[in-house]
Amino acid sequence: MVRLCVFCGSKTGSHAEFIDGAETIGRELVSRQVGLVYGGGGIGLMGVLSDAVLEAGGDVIGVIPEGLAIDEVMHQGVADMRVVSDMHRRKALMHDLSDAYLALPGGVGTYEELFEVLAWRQLRIHNKPIGLLDTRGYFQPFLETIERAVEDGFLNRRNRELFVVSDDPAMLLDELMA
Ligand code: AMP
Repeated sequence: MVRLCVFCGSKTGSHAEFIDGAETIGRELVSRQVGLVYGGGGIGLMGVLSDAVLEAGGDVIGVIPEGLAIDEVMHQGVADMRVVSDMHRRKALMHDLSDAYLALPGGVGTYEELFEVLAWRQLRIHNKPIGLLDTRGYFQPFLETIERAVEDGFLNRRNRELFVVSDDPAMLLDELMA
């Protein structure tokens, strides 16, 4: 089965569009028969996304480190929950299980995961597609940072082509899973 690894917030954010975007991604994954790999949380956009996939009858794998595998945080309805010893093993397993990556809006945890897959793609450690769901223009400051890095000579312009950005969940998934 083709699987998408999604990084997203452990909070839902302060606008309903963030929740709508996560729910739409969940439903669109199921309609494309693409499985979800994610951080295993039952909270924030992680919970919204995984609930949407489960409700539509889709396939979900959660990967969570021991320290977070507590009732308040871990999704209790994900049958395939892989509990690993630490964050490094979590990321390694998420990478092994997935064919592409998608970041939804989130905080530093989401950004950290996004930056790692971008840096590793740049270094050719992997060659998997990477997408950003730009709900409400959330990633525009990130894109400005990337553009500034190109302008100031710290990033090759071709590396800007290593990820795709859209505020349209269906179009983004079409492009990522093509
Ligand atoms: P953040 O964007 O800072 O809210 O962090 C969300 C990202 O970090 C997710 O993609 C998860 O992989 C990880 N993460 C942070 N908090 C949790 C949590 N409580 N349960 C599971 N994963 C989490």
